[in-house]
Amino acid sequence: KPEKSPYDVVVLGAGVLGLATADALSATGLRVAILARDLPEDVDSAAFASPWAGANWSSFGNNESERRRDTFTFEEFGRLAKSHPEIVTRRQFKYIWNKDKGYSSPWYKDVVFNFRPLERSEVPGPYSEGVSFESYTLNPHRYNALLASRLRDRGVPIVRKRVSSLDEAFAHFGPVDYVVNATGLGAKSLLGVEDPAVFPDRGQTALVRAPKVDICFGVRDANMAEGKAVYVIPRPGSGGCVIVGGTNIKGEYSTLPRREMAESILQNAFEICPELANGGASWKDIEVVSHNVGLRPAREGGLRLEIEERMIQPDALVPEGGKSKSRPVTVLHCYGIGPAGYQANLGIAEEAKEITLKYFNKQRS
Ligand code: FAD
Repeated sequence: KPEKSPYDVVVLGAGVLGLATADALSATGLRVAILARDLPEDVDSAAFASPWAGANWSSFGNNESERRRDTFTFEEFGRLAKSHPEIVTRRQFKYIWNKDKGYSSPWYKDVVFNFRPLERSEVPGPYSEGVSFESYTLNPHRYNALLASRLRDRGVPIVRKRVSSLDEAFAHFGPVDYVVNATGLGAKSLLGVEDPAVFPDRGQTALVRAPKVDICFGVRDANMAEGKAVYVIPRPGSGGCVIVGGTNIKGEYSTLPRREMAESILQNAFEICPELANGGASWKDIEVVSHNVGLRPAREGGLRLEIEERMIQPDALVPEGGKSKSRPVTVLHCYGIGPAGYQANLGIAEEAKEITLKYFNKQRS
C-alpha cells in the first residue's frame, strides 16, 4: 500500500453533483479522483437519481443561498446552450393554474427571459391563468457524459466501487486527507455518515416520442393533490423525446413504475399538451418509450454543503515501520439536493470549490 496517494481529493459519487464538483476542483489544478458505485454511463440504474431527471431550470430557491446557486447555474447554462445546443436548449415555458391558486410572481422572474402573463387564449387545458418565460431544458445523460469526458481528458479517473464506509474513500487510492461526499441518497446508509435526515422523493415519469412538442409546460396549482405534479419537458438531443411527469412521493423507495400512476401522468399531460399524441385524439395515442422512476436524494433542511473534521483509525495494512497512527482528515459533505440537482449543480460546485481552496490554502500556509 502506498504511503501517499497521487491524489489531493477523492470525490465519492458520480451523480451530477459529484461530477460537477470534481470538474470545478480539477480545473484549479488539484489532483482529483472519483469513486462511485454508479457511473455516468449507467443510465438505466435506479440506484442513483441523476439519469432520471427531466431536466429543466425552474428554481425552487427558498433562500438566498439556493437562489444564488440557481442563478449561477442559469448563467452557465446560457453559455452551454450556445456551445452545446444538443445538451442544453433555451425554450419557452408555460406555467399554468386556476384563478388565485397559482404563483404569478416567482422570485426568478427577472432571472429568466421574457417573463409575462399569458393571455387567456394561450392557457391550455382546464386552467385559467399562467405565465410565459424562457428558460433551459437539458438532456441529463448527455450533460453528465460531457462532464465525465472533460474529467477523463484531464486525467481524472472515474472508478467503479461501492464503499461501505466513508473511511474507505480516504484509503482507496492510498491515504488522502480530503474527500467530497456526494453520495446522494447513499448518505442515509453510508457507515460513518448515516444521516437520518436523508429521504427519497420518488418521481415517476414517462419518456415519450413527440417531436413537435417544443414548449415546456408545468401546472403550478395550489389545489393539486399532495405528491402529484404535472409537467412536460422536451429533451434536447434525444430524437424528439419528451419527459412527462409526474410524482413527488416522499419517503417511498419503490423503483417500479405503477400502472395507475403511468396512466394518470399521460392523461394529465395530454390535457395541457395534446400535441404529445402526434395528431392522435386521445392520451392512449401517445407513443411511450419507457415508464421510469427516479429517487430524488432529498434531506430535511435541504442540501448539506459543509466541512466535517474526522479521525481515521490506524490502517492495519500499512507495513511495519510505516506510519500507522490515527490521522485527522476532512470531508466536504455535498448531498441532499432533492429535486434541484441540475438547476443548482454549477452553483453548488462553485461553492464547493471555494470551500476546498480555502482548506488547501490553510494547509499550505
Ligand atoms: P445521485 O445522482 O443520486 O448520485 C449519487 C452518487 O453516489 C452515485 O454515483 C452513487 O452510485 C454514489 N453512491 C452512493 N452511495 C455510494 C456508496 N456507498 N459507494 C460508492 N458510491 C456511492 N433536478 C433539476 O434540477 N431539474 C429537474 O427538472 C429535475 N427533474 C427531476 C425529475 C425526476 C423524476 C427526478 C427523479 C429527479 C429530478 N431532478 C431534477 C433532481 C436531480 O435528478 C437530482 O437532484 C440529482 O440527480 C442529484 O444528484 P446527486 O449527484 O446528488 O445524487
